Amino acid sequence: MSVTVRVPAKVNVQLAVGAPRPDGFHDLANVFLAVGLYDEVTVTPADALTVTCSGPDAAQVPLDTGNLAARAAIALAERHGITPDVHIHISKDIPVAGGMAGGSADAAAALVACDALWATGATRDELLAICAELGSDVPFSLVGGAALGIGRGEQLTAIDVGGTFHWVFAVADGGLSTPAVYGEFDRLTAGTDVPAPEASPALLDALHTGSTDVLAKALSNDLQPAALSLRPSLADTLAAGTGAGALAALVSGSGPTTAFLAADAEAARRIADTLRASGTCRTARVAVSPAPGATIV
Ligand code: ATP
Repeated sequence: MSVTVRVPAKVNVQLAVGAPRPDGFHDLANVFLAVGLYDEVTVTPADALTVTCSGPDAAQVPLDTGNLAARAAIALAERHGITPDVHIHISKDIPVAGGMAGGSADAAAALVACDALWATGATRDELLAICAELGSDVPFSLVGGAALGIGRGEQLTAIDVGGTFHWVFAVADGGLSTPAVYGEFDRLTAGTDVPAPEASPALLDALHTGSTDVLAKALSNDLQPAALSLRPSLADTLAAGTGAGALAALVSGSGPTTAFLAADAEAARRIADTLRASGTCRTARVAVSPAPGATIV
């Protein structure tokens, strides 16, 4: 018997970053939107914990206990006195190290899959608590849809979304390390007065009403200057997408994936074609949002 869970990628439609805290983390106002690019995680009983991965970026995914999906299985097993003897297979479609929370998605998916396989009877709150221990973006991968995350981004409040948004994601060659991007943020903002992060009312309103035009004007990412500083060529990608008719363009999370909001599905296809031909990215993907969180298939 095996259990397969499908889990979406995310884009941060707002990422407001505060000054570094004494523990090194940053307070955030992080508005997550799940997008319809999915990994599928399958868990099957086995003699020992093993991980395999398939997909175009599979070679970049660790197959040891550094894999977040394996860590999720171990965390759930420990709580329930179970030995985590499962084979975890990740069918990976979410770009790796792209700022789209692919590893976090796999962790949430593995948790839901193992929970079903082992029939632990864990409550949703218990699963969310394990997610928060695994990483700041993991709880959102479990719930999907749209949500405001405060604290390190893990304290979630769901947001109702009133429409469908059409996106294009330009996938860059190579990843950017999230800690390195926060380090660059600290360097760029050193000696300045970094305001406390707050969710933008205009952005929340755009999500509620489903207005693409209002959302386009309200998108923001405080990590974008840091990502551009570490990877200046991303400015060319952003310009290529805007030139192709995107209503707005921004770096997704810590990058280097860039996100483009399109007026409709047809515009998204056109922007993706132009980006692929531009030579400024490895590939471009279209996706709609919101998307459901980790779901057993
Ligand atoms: P975030 O948006 O949450 O900052 P990301 O999308 O930038 O994350 P991930 O794809 O999650 O980045 O990968 C970051 C690193 O995590 C990878 O370079 C890889 O070494 C490691 N990793 C651990 N588990 C996984 C996994 N299941 N899938 C992908 N990467 C993983």
